[in-house]
Amino acid sequence: MGMDRGKLDRFVRALRAIVGKDAVLQSRADLILYEFDASLERSMPEVVVLPGTVEEVAAIVALANREGVPYVARGAGTGLSGGSVPVAGGLVISMARFNRILEIDLEGRTATVEPGVVNLELNNALARHGYWFAPDPASHKASTIGGNAAENAGGPHCLKYGVTSNHVLGLEVVLPTGQVVQMGGKALDAPGYDLTGLMVGSEGTLGIITKVVVRIGPRPCAIRTLLAVFERMEDAAQAVSAIIASGILPSSLEMMDRFIILAVEDYFHVGYPKDAGAVLIIELDGLEEGLDRQVRWVSDICLERGAREVRSAQSEEERQRLWKGRREFLTAITKISPGHLTADGTVPRNRLVEVLGNVVQIAQRHGLSIGNVFHAGDGNLHPIILVDPSDENQRARADRACYEIMQACVEAGGTISGEHGIGLEKIEAMPLLFSPDELAVMEAVKRAFDPFGLCNPGKVFPSGIVRYG
Ligand SMILES: Cc1cc2nc3c(=O)[nH]c(=O)nc-3n(C[C@H](O)[C@H](O)[C@H](O)COP(=O)(O)OP(=O)(O)OC[C@H]3O[C@@H](n4cnc5c(N)ncnc54)[C@H](O)[C@@H]3O)c2cc1C
Repeated sequence: MGMDRGKLDRFVRALRAIVGKDAVLQSRADLILYEFDASLERSMPEVVVLPGTVEEVAAIVALANREGVPYVARGAGTGLSGGSVPVAGGLVISMARFNRILEIDLEGRTATVEPGVVNLELNNALARHGYWFAPDPASHKASTIGGNAAENAGGPHCLKYGVTSNHVLGLEVVLPTGQVVQMGGKALDAPGYDLTGLMVGSEGTLGIITKVVVRIGPRPCAIRTLLAVFERMEDAAQAVSAIIASGILPSSLEMMDRFIILAVEDYFHVGYPKDAGAVLIIELDGLEEGLDRQVRWVSDICLERGAREVRSAQSEEERQRLWKGRREFLTAITKISPGHLTADGTVPRNRLVEVLGNVVQIAQRHGLSIGNVFHAGDGNLHPIILVDPSDENQRARADRACYEIMQACVEAGGTISGEHGIGLEKIEAMPLLFSPDELAVMEAVKRAFDPFGLCNPGKVFPSGIVRYG
C-alpha cells in the first residue's frame, strides 16, 4: 500500500502547484495529527492538503484520479466511527480553511456556510439575531457543519427538532469524478432525485461537500431544564417512555447511569447526586405560557415512575452546569481510562429497559467496564466501553462487546448506528441490519458516484468492494 518515493514527490509537487506550498503537509509530525479521529482507529496519511476554494478541491480530486491516490475529507476529526481515518493511506483533504459563514438569510430562514464552520460558531453568529441551527451534537464546540452533514449528526435537542438531515436544504459537492454539482438549495421541494438526502449521512464516501445551505429557526422563547434523580436505571427508562407517551415532547431527554455520574461528578463537580442509579436531564422549551404546567406534568410522571427528586435549574448558570456534565463527560472518562469505545445503537423506546439490561450482561460476560450516557428520548444508546488500546486482548473483547450490543439493538428492532455512522468500526455489523440485496443497492450507488473507488475507501461496506492495499 502507498506511493513509492518518486510518485509521492511528484504528487506533492502537483498539490503545491494547486494550493501553494504552505497548504500541503508532509512531515511526520504533521501527518500524525491526521491519523486518528475520536474513535480508536488509526492510519497515517501520506500527505495532507488544505484547499481554500472549490476550484482547488476539484483540481485535487482530478489529480488524485489521474494518479490513482485514495483521499478522504476531514472536518474537525471528532468522528466516533473512524470515518475520517485514511485507512488506505493516500491523501487527507482537510476542510479547515472552508470556515466562512457566507450568508444568514432571516427572511428565508436559511444560512449558507462553508463546511469547515464549527457548529457552535454558526450558532453564536445566529444567536445575535435570536436564531439557531438546531442540531447540536455534544461535540458542538469542535465539530464542523460539513462533518455534521456527512455523519447526519444528532444531538440532545434533536429529539424535538430532528437530526441534521432535517436541516440541510442544499449542498455544493465536488463529486469523485471532479465535477462540481449543486444539490437542493434555498427553494423548497426541489424536483428530481433527492441527492441532498443521499449525500447527508453518506460519511464522505460520495464526494466532498464545499458549501451547505441549512435551515435556521428562531430560538425558543423560554426554556426549563430539569434533573430527575432515580435509584434505578430501569425506572428512569420507564419514565422516558411514559413522558413521550403522555404527548409532551421535551426538546431533550438525556440519561446518564451511575458509572457516568460518578466519573463526571469526580471531575466536574456539577451537582449530580453520586448515590443515584441514573439521572435524566429533561429540557422543555416553547412559549413561556404553559411551560410551568408542562414542568409539573413531567415531574409528576418521573415521581410516579420512582424518581426520588426532580430538580429544576433556577438560573442559566445552573442550567449550563447541568449540561456541562452531559456534554463534556468524555473529558471525565479520559481521566479514568486511557481509551474508550462509544457504541451507538438505537432501539424502540419501549425496549430500552430490556436492551440496557443486555448491555450490562454483555459487559459482565467480557469483563469490561461500561457506562451509559445517551439520548434516551430517541432510544439512542451510547454504551461507553473503557479500554486500554495497548491491551490487545482487552481491545478484542471490547470490539466483540460492541458487536454484541449492536446485535442486541437489531434483535430489539433497532439499528446499529443512531448518529455516529458506520465508518470503520461498524462495518462487520452491516449484515446484521441489511440483506445482501440491500447492501448491493448501496454499493451500486457508491459505484455510480465513485467509479474509481478512491473517495474515502474502506468505509461502510463489508464486501470490501472499495478496499485498497
Ligand atoms: C465528545 C464528543 C461528543 C460527540 N457527540 C455527538 C453527538 O451528540 N451526536 C453526534 O451525532 N455525534 C457526536 N459526536 C461525533 C462527531 O462529533 C460527529 O460525528 C460530527 O458530526 C463529526 O464532525 P467532524 O467535523 O469532526 O467530522 P470528521 O470527524 O472530521 O469527519 C466525519 C466524517 O465526515 C466526513 N466529512 C467531513 N467533512 C466533510 C466534507 N466537507 N465533505 C464530505 N465529507 C466530509 C469525513 O470524511 C468522515 O467520514 C461526538 C464526538 C465527540 C468526540
